[in-house]
This record gives sequence, C-alpha cells and structure tokens, in this order.
Amino acid sequence: MEWISEPERKTPVVAEVDVLVCGGGIAGVAAAVCAARQGVDVMLLEKYGFLGGLVTTSLVITTTPLNNGINLEFERRLKEKSVYAPCRYSDEITKPLHLHAIDPEILKYELVNMLRESGVDILLHTYIVSTIKEDNRLNGIIMENKAGRQAVWARMVVDATGDADVAALAGAPFRLVKKPMTMMFNMVGVDVARAMNAMGNWGGIRKLVKEGIERKELEFDLGIYPEFGAPGVYAEQLVYKDEVNVWSGNLMGMNGVDPRDLTQAEITTREHAMRMAIFLKNKVPGFENARIEYTSTQVGVRATRQIIGEASPTMDEVKNIRFEDTVAKPYARNEMRLPYGSILPQNVENLLAAGRCISADEEAMGQLRLIPVCSATGQAAGTAAALSLKKGVAPRELDVLSLQEVLMEQGMELGLGVKM
Ligand SMILES: Cc1cc2nc3c(=O)[nH]c(=O)nc-3n(C[C@H](O)[C@H](O)[C@H](O)COP(=O)(O)OP(=O)(O)OC[C@H]3O[C@@H](n4cnc5c(N)ncnc54)[C@H](O)[C@@H]3O)c2cc1C
Repeated sequence: MEWISEPERKTPVVAEVDVLVCGGGIAGVAAAVCAARQGVDVMLLEKYGFLGGLVTTSLVITTTPLNNGINLEFERRLKEKSVYAPCRYSDEITKPLHLHAIDPEILKYELVNMLRESGVDILLHTYIVSTIKEDNRLNGIIMENKAGRQAVWARMVVDATGDADVAALAGAPFRLVKKPMTMMFNMVGVDVARAMNAMGNWGGIRKLVKEGIERKELEFDLGIYPEFGAPGVYAEQLVYKDEVNVWSGNLMGMNGVDPRDLTQAEITTREHAMRMAIFLKNKVPGFENARIEYTSTQVGVRATRQIIGEASPTMDEVKNIRFEDTVAKPYARNEMRLPYGSILPQNVENLLAAGRCISADEEAMGQLRLIPVCSATGQAAGTAAALSLKKGVAPRELDVLSLQEVLMEQGMELGLGVKM
C-alpha cells in the first residue's frame, strides 16, 4: 500500500471530562447515565444525529423483555408512553423469546431525556478517529466533526461503539467476527387480521417467502455471494396495529469495519428490502395496500470487533457459573452472568467496554449481544468507570465488591450468593 505523510498539526482540546462514553447506542446511554448518577462529569459522543445505535439506526425494534437494573427504567419510560408492547402472532421460533416491540422514534427522544436528566453532556455528529495515550494509559480521544479535528481529555473512557473502535485504536487486542448483515424495514397499511387469517402466524409468511425464493419469484444475489444462504424472514406486528417489521434477509461473509464491504452490504440489502416489499404486496394477503414506512438508516451489522478481555467466558460458563465478580445478570434467552473481566480490555488502562464489543467466546456472544445484555454491561461499565475515578484506582484494580454493592443499590439484581 502507498502511504503519504501528513504535516504535523496542532489539535485543539475542546473538553476535559471525568468519564467519556464513546457511542450512543443502548449500551453507551446506559453507561453514561449510570456514570453520571455517581456524581462525575460525563460526556457522550455519537456519530449520528440521534441515539439508540442499532435499535434506531437499523430498526432492531423487537427485544427479549427488558428486565433487571437500568433495563427496568427503559421499560418503564417506554410503557408510560405506550410504545412498548408484547409482539403478537409469534410463531414457534419467536414465541419462546417473549419478544416485545419498541417504537424507535420515541426511544430516540427518551434516551436524550435520560441523559439530560442525569447531566450528561451530549455531542452528536462526531466521529472518534484516534486515541491519546501515554504508555498503556488512555488519556482521551481525537474526534472529527464539522468543526474539524478536536481532542477530548478523559480520565476514564467507556468504549460503547459496538465495533470496539476505541479499544482497537488504543492497541487493545480484539477478534474480528463476521456475522450476517440484514436490512430491516417497517411497512404500514398492513391488514394484519387478514394476513393472520391466511397464515396463522408470522411463520406462515416466512414459509411463503422461502417458497417464493425456491420458485424464483423472489430472487436474491445468490450468484454474487455464493455463501449467501436462504434469507431469514421475520415479520412481527409492532406497537401499532397496521405496522410490521420485516427482516429482508441475511447477507453473509461481510466485514462490518471494512468500508467497501459495508457499502456493498448497504446496496445489496437495500435491494433485498425492495424486492421483499414488492413480493409481500403481490403475494401475501393483507399486504395489498401496504407501503414501506421507512428502511434502516444503516444496514444491521450484528458483530465486528470484540475485545479480548481479562475474561472470555463460554456459553456454558455464562449460563452455569456463579462468577464471584459477576457484574451483570441479564436475561435474554437464558439467565446469564457476566464476570467483570468481560468488560476489561487487556493492555490498555482506564478503558472499559460495553455492549456488543465485550469479551466472551463466539457462541456466548450470540446471546450476549442482545439488547438487554448490552444495556446491562453499559450499566456495569459506566458505574465501574465512575467508581474507579472516585477511588483513584485503575478499573483493573477496582474492588469488585464495592462495584457490586453500587450496582445492587441501582436495582441490578446480581444473584450473588444464590446457587444457580
Ligand atoms: C440484524 C440484527 C438483528 C438483531 N436482532 C436482535 C433481537 O432480535 N433482539 C435483540 O435483543 N438484539 C438483536 N440484535 C442485537 C442488538 O440490536 C445489538 O447487539 C445492540 O443493539 C447493540 O447495542 P450497542 O449499544 O452495544 O451497540 P450499537 O447499537 O452498535 O451502538 C454503537 C453506537 O456507537 C456509535 N459509534 C460507532 N462507532 C463510532 C465512532 N467511531 N465514533 C462515534 N460514534 C460511533 C454508533 O453510531 C452507535 O450509535 C440484532 C442486531 C442486528 C444487526
């Protein structure tokens, strides 16, 4: 590869904060709110003009129940506005998950409210591009936005970018994972009663689409992506009675932190979404008058970089071990416990990870990247960052008992002392 050398330049330091949370997805918001509630200065940076991460950018709006700790607060706020409801017409695949639907527009608004009520300084439209380090200690980040290139000093940093951007830029070890990418879209004007009359449940639509692909009525780019399997279809009635969320299909083998792959994925999955919408309108009873209300702002990227932390538990371990240093006990498909080491990157000090870039083996991450787990790890990481600061220790040296005590005061049930 050819390189150029850029001229040396001076970068203005525009803020100095106690805890800097990088990324405003569900994990980042949880981390920022929980850190700020410990009485420290918190700033949150986000590259989009709104918060929520994959939930709002990619319309991942069906979640396993929000329970335990900060999740209960998300649930309460959404319920108060009547924008959180159990999904109806689930099939044999989705029924055991007890999925609930969220209105993403209200979530965007509520997340801002939560941050502002907690006193978090929010900076949107800002991309983190580099880190400031002294030996192994992370001292802040460099960001770019419409004002140019700027620096923020931070005493503690939480990486909630989903892609472990900060950890990778700081030189922490990570693994790169490729998972299927999917573009979701919402359709309105659906006569759900007629569709259900004809199909029984949403599995009926999935079956019809599968048959449509087999009969070549619904074509995907199988030739271009040989590893591209039959698209998984998922449709669920949302909070509103004529609205349905559709998963257009799984695009395999793409690297979510490679801009060329990402571009190709956006283009291909958008085409899938359009073909799928036309197919549903033409072939499925109840969809005749439906239209696409909106598609995702960006393709849904399930996984990219995940830190290799001080602990990397397996699925069996998160389901069965009562870790002494448990800092989150979310329930997604199973009850799970996560050790503190899962949110502690190796080799870099003053950095914690939260959300879908934490450390666990690949099988375990299949469940640990679910929404209620991401927010629980955000709660743990934000609280640990604030406590470390108050106690004047590195997160690695933090007395986990004191962290557990505070998490339990915040309403997070950790199941300590209870045999599973
Ligand atoms: C197709 C698909 C289906 C899924 N299905 C389900 C499901 O049914 N149920 C479920 O519970 N979960 C599901 N998930 C998983 C779940 O949605 C995510 O794992 C979770 O929302 C991740 O939250 P997060 O906050 O960790 O990361 P993200 O939501 O990715 O948030 C990261 C935030 O950081 C920002 N950011 C990233 N890099 C930078 C940077 N350099 N500078 C500034 N900002 C940056 C991003 O814009 C984003 O807002 C699904 C995901 C996908 C993609």
